[in-house]
Amino acid sequence: ERSTFEERTPASAALFQRACRVMPGGDTRYSLAMHPYPSYVEKASGTRLYDADGNRLLDLIYNATSLIHGHVHPRVTEAIREQAGRATAVLAPNAAQIALAEQLCARVPSLQRLRFTNSGTEATMMMVKTARAFTGRDLVLKMDGSYHGTFDGMEINATAPGSARGVPYTAGVPANLADNVIVGSFNDTDGVVSLIEQYADRLAAVIVTPMASIGTWIPPTPGFLEAIRAATAAQDVLLLFDEVIAFRVAPGGAQQRYGVTPDLTAYGKVVGGGMPVGAYGGRADVMAVTDPAGGPRLAHAGTFNGNPVTAAAGLATLELLDAEAYQRLERVGELFADGLRDAFTDLDLPLAVRQVGSLVSVATTDRTPTGWAEVNAAMRLALLNRGVCGWGVFALPTVIDDAEIDEAVAAIHDALRVPAAALREVPVG
Ligand code: PMP
Repeated sequence: ERSTFEERTPASAALFQRACRVMPGGDTRYSLAMHPYPSYVEKASGTRLYDADGNRLLDLIYNATSLIHGHVHPRVTEAIREQAGRATAVLAPNAAQIALAEQLCARVPSLQRLRFTNSGTEATMMMVKTARAFTGRDLVLKMDGSYHGTFDGMEINATAPGSARGVPYTAGVPANLADNVIVGSFNDTDGVVSLIEQYADRLAAVIVTPMASIGTWIPPTPGFLEAIRAATAAQDVLLLFDEVIAFRVAPGGAQQRYGVTPDLTAYGKVVGGGMPVGAYGGRADVMAVTDPAGGPRLAHAGTFNGNPVTAAAGLATLELLDAEAYQRLERVGELFADGLRDAFTDLDLPLAVRQVGSLVSVATTDRTPTGWAEVNAAMRLALLNRGVCGWGVFALPTVIDDAEIDEAVAAIHDALRVPAAALREVPVG
């Protein structure tokens, strides 16, 4: 697969060589650093990407889930163009951000007040700082392995599986930041509830992604979110949802789909319509700590916060997300997940498919092959060679049609034939 990839992508190879001379690893995002080099995309339209060598690819991830109507949607692009022609950034508030805030607050009842940031990372960071400022406590409980962006206060996992003590999972984070974090295990209802009770008087908040992002996406087991909600409410601890990805699963986001209301929620990705974005908000009394009028206890500045071009793109995107769009997202998600399950059954692969609306993820079952990481890497290349971009976690847009779903499943089925042998040969435990 590697030599086929190299034959298909000489222009990407040349771009990567250039990139490595000016950027460590040739990129500014961790996720794209793939072997032997990334595929450079020059143009995108609808469901398709066109790389620097003219190869046409079917996109299955849409900039890490941030484009829910596909690439360069005419309505979104027109909104961007129109706003960009008027003003791109001004040191003054703008009406576009009010309209986007109104639209989000109308969809999500728990959003009484919200503020904009430039990324999901900043949104989770400000959400945690807001919870600490409001409660006057420092401890935050997070789930082991959960990703909340590159905010150092949350780049912490358990010291060992099952331990509540944390340790930074990346260099550059002072070890003592872990002193402010308690680590629980997603879907371990009893364990998390008892941690909340044990640390209640020092705990500012519990942060949880309703559909956990732990390498793969894991839906909550029934009762898990409800139990954390009840336990935090009983102890005056705030419940924070990270819906940076999960917002897309219902008009009111994951909290609507699962029927559990947090105190604060962080957003990103689709709410910016493909432009850089973040937002967070919730209870008015909690968010008041950022209100300058009362003499703010928590400063929240940001040169590009509430950017009007982002707001225009986000608003156009949300306006397109009507009842019909959500029905379509459910249907394509189910169609794709069913297709993948059939393919894995046909190939006798120990892979599980999880689907919530348009989010679909693949993970090894309990019989986890030890060589999964290599198989995973091989799959990315094998799929690019078959005209498909993305593997492992998938986010489908409203604009993908049934034939394209079939095309994606067929490519994955074919690509897995080679690693399938490897998968079956690897000892499973
Ligand atoms: N939280 C979650 C659950 C995410 O998936 C991400 C990004 N993948 C972030 C936070 C961070 O968002 P951003 O990349 O916009 O900083």
